[in-house]
Amino acid sequence: MSIKNPYLQKVYQQVCQRDANEPEFLNAVMEVLSTLEPVIEKHPEYEAAGLIERLVEPERAVQFRVAWQDDQGKTQVNRAFRVQFNSAIGPYKGGLRFHPSVNLSIIKFLAFEQTFKNSLTGLPMGGGKGGSDFDPKGKSDAEIMRFCQSFMTELSRYIGAETDVPAGDIGVGGREIGYLFGQYKRLQNRFSGILTGKGLSYGGSLVRTQATGYGLLYFVQEMLSVMANDSVKDKVTVISGSGNVAIYAAEKAQELGAKVVALSDSNGYIYDKNGIDLNVVKQIKEVRRGRIREYMDAVPSAEYHEGCRGIWSIPCEIALPCATQNELLLEDAEKLIANGVKLVAEGANMPCALDAVAAFQNSGVLYAPGKAANAGGVATSGLEMCQNAMKYSWSKEEVDQKLHQIMVGIFHDAYNAAKEYNMENEQHQANLLAGANIAGFAKVADAMMAQGIL
Ligand code: GLU
Repeated sequence: MSIKNPYLQKVYQQVCQRDANEPEFLNAVMEVLSTLEPVIEKHPEYEAAGLIERLVEPERAVQFRVAWQDDQGKTQVNRAFRVQFNSAIGPYKGGLRFHPSVNLSIIKFLAFEQTFKNSLTGLPMGGGKGGSDFDPKGKSDAEIMRFCQSFMTELSRYIGAETDVPAGDIGVGGREIGYLFGQYKRLQNRFSGILTGKGLSYGGSLVRTQATGYGLLYFVQEMLSVMANDSVKDKVTVISGSGNVAIYAAEKAQELGAKVVALSDSNGYIYDKNGIDLNVVKQIKEVRRGRIREYMDAVPSAEYHEGCRGIWSIPCEIALPCATQNELLLEDAEKLIANGVKLVAEGANMPCALDAVAAFQNSGVLYAPGKAANAGGVATSGLEMCQNAMKYSWSKEEVDQKLHQIMVGIFHDAYNAAKEYNMENEQHQANLLAGANIAGFAKVADAMMAQGIL
């Protein structure tokens, strides 16, 4: 990937100088700017208004200390962030990630991506992201609660139903959202929709848990149908990860007739050529919070391999990276291509390295970027905010139908934008990465122009 337009090049150089030690953020900026050239050429007024310089600089980034006591009574200190990237089209919106790898670069890249993703959903949500380098692995329930309470005590200064609405991400699920919500309510003496992904008994939305995974498959179905006159049915499918996104992507894939043969976690992957038994996986991951290798105890005929990247050496027609950023590198892409993969769609945020993406696109593999394909989670968060504002809740069927409609809409918006700007490969396949960036950017740019120099 490269940037040819002089204005975009100049802005990218500035970001490289200013944020030289933020590799994930630089990657995300390169990925977006490299596709905006035709739009910038059509709109010279954007350069005059310094629009792109403003787009790549977060409106606000806070870093704070989270001190808490572990079960031994020892004081622990973690570092936490909330990056409020862009509020042109709505309150900041995006998840919280608890993982030892969390740093400013990762949170900035996620918040930047979230800006375009949220715009693509068509709902009024700006882009934000937060988290901490806290590692939930091996912590007791009481430790998780104390950490969440301390984290929210500080975060509560910066959020609000009309200001910034966080949600879950890696390491933050229903349990954590519950503790975070409780602490906010206690501090503010106010019951309001300041988080999404809440439990159903206190303002959550039906289908939110399943939404990212289900949405990914709705997107893939539409993409296969339009771009290849094909469907998910009978396709051998490999899904990395075994968290919320991966489990419900697998569930919907199976419902649509695909054969899901592999899942992974950060230690290794399981391969079950007969098709993964999801009840076993849910028991391990959702009930016991265990490791994926425990699948072998219930299904001894499956295989377990140490190391998670090996999952990409399994021959498959559909590959859905649903674990984390940069989990699929160029050599993995080459293996998938050599084994005849037809479609790769990202359930995680930027799981494929930029050169891996280029390899898929150049070899005619259908590729969908996360900001479009995994937008079902945040879209359903938007629906949760809507239900909270109405003090009402929709049925499962109503939410699911809206989610389906949004995902189909995102596919067509990205596809049409790619076609409109001639962003295609040699086989005349629409470049959905370019299309998603252009379509997501258009609304944000329009709103920023209308609101003046801010
Ligand atoms: N963390 C999810 C994402 O990456 C969901 C964010 C949300 O629901 O606000 O889009």
